Amino acid sequence: MNPSTLRINAERFKTNFEALSKIGATPDGGVHRPTFSQAHLQVRAWFRELAAEAGLEFNIDSAGNHSALLQCADPEAPTLLLGSHLDSVTNGGRFDGAIGVLSALEVLQTIKDAGLYLPIHLEAIDFTDEEGTLFGLMGSAAVAGKLTPQDLLGLRGGRNALLSGLSRAGLTEEGLLMAKRQSHQTLGYLEVHIEQGSRLIEAGADIGLVTSIVGTNSYRLTFLGRADHAGTTPMDARLDAGQGASAFTLAARQQVMRNYPQCVVNIGSMTLEPGAFNIVPERACLSLEFRAHDEDTLDQLERALLELAEKEAQRFNLGLDIESVGAHQPALMSQQIQDVFHRAAKSLNLKTVPLASFAGHDAQSMASICPAGMIFIPSVDGASHSPREYTEWQDCVNGASVLLHAVLSMAIG
Ligand SMILES: [Zn+2]
Repeated sequence: MNPSTLRINAERFKTNFEALSKIGATPDGGVHRPTFSQAHLQVRAWFRELAAEAGLEFNIDSAGNHSALLQCADPEAPTLLLGSHLDSVTNGGRFDGAIGVLSALEVLQTIKDAGLYLPIHLEAIDFTDEEGTLFGLMGSAAVAGKLTPQDLLGLRGGRNALLSGLSRAGLTEEGLLMAKRQSHQTLGYLEVHIEQGSRLIEAGADIGLVTSIVGTNSYRLTFLGRADHAGTTPMDARLDAGQGASAFTLAARQQVMRNYPQCVVNIGSMTLEPGAFNIVPERACLSLEFRAHDEDTLDQLERALLELAEKEAQRFNLGLDIESVGAHQPALMSQQIQDVFHRAAKSLNLKTVPLASFAGHDAQSMASICPAGMIFIPSVDGASHSPREYTEWQDCVNGASVLLHAVLSMAIG
């Protein structure tokens, strides 16, 4: 057969998507599948069954990444990885990650059903904890050999959540640190994902060719003051931790908008302690996250924001504790894979547009051990990490179809 005429089975793809959307479904049409929750373990068991039904081999690595495999006859042949993640944020949407894993599986099934022989191994992978319930990009960072024992001590989700989650899933910290794959065995990594923004729809394009993925650093900052009577302590004698935290929050936004217009900063939580109407706050704890597209800018931004925090702490005579709780480096996507995706889309009469990604993805971990590439499909209203997340079904089919033809092109030219 002529591989260029090969098409995915759109009906099967949709049936699988609908079945997947029921696992961890929330009443408002989203899904709730945080890493190692009951629903997440259930979705992984479901993926394993689906791979078996498709007659594909199955593998779980020591970081808990789940894979369906379509192997070729030559054991020395390299592997082309396709994938994404089946975990979700709290009360997330049905499409984020799920479309990437199901597209990958559909591509393997389509090639297998067609009896097409490729000279490479194909692997459809569901990475562990992409969304950061525990660490973020954890499974892909493990595969890339980027996880360190230090990383596992300072986690966004806290260390207890990691240890109890690993034990529920039958995994260990040692396993996470031993999951590295060798570059020479890995031909590349391809991922389909929803855009989670509205640039594709605004551009009237079907497929986004991802050029780079943003790097993200996270810190927990604690401003330290003194608890005092809120009535009897004069205003100018207070060491009010909340003042430092609030002043920093406002100044961080201004500084990023003024000096780093290509970057973003978010202070996503702020807790005041002891937390009472009548006590001056002694501690103010912030979750700080910021993103940039290249390492130099990310480093500069980090210095600027931490200096600003020190300055605001001094201004209110407060102490400051700075705890790093995770960093993901920015990554450029392979130009060669962008070209492959572009040609695949063109052969299917789909319009492409290049885009940088402001969301983190497993492809940024994988880019350190192999050529990595991603495509985006449109998100209606740009909604994501919410039950409102929606992508037209034809766009999902387009994404899987471009992935299929990119795989065929990389395997047989
Ligand atoms: Zn995702």
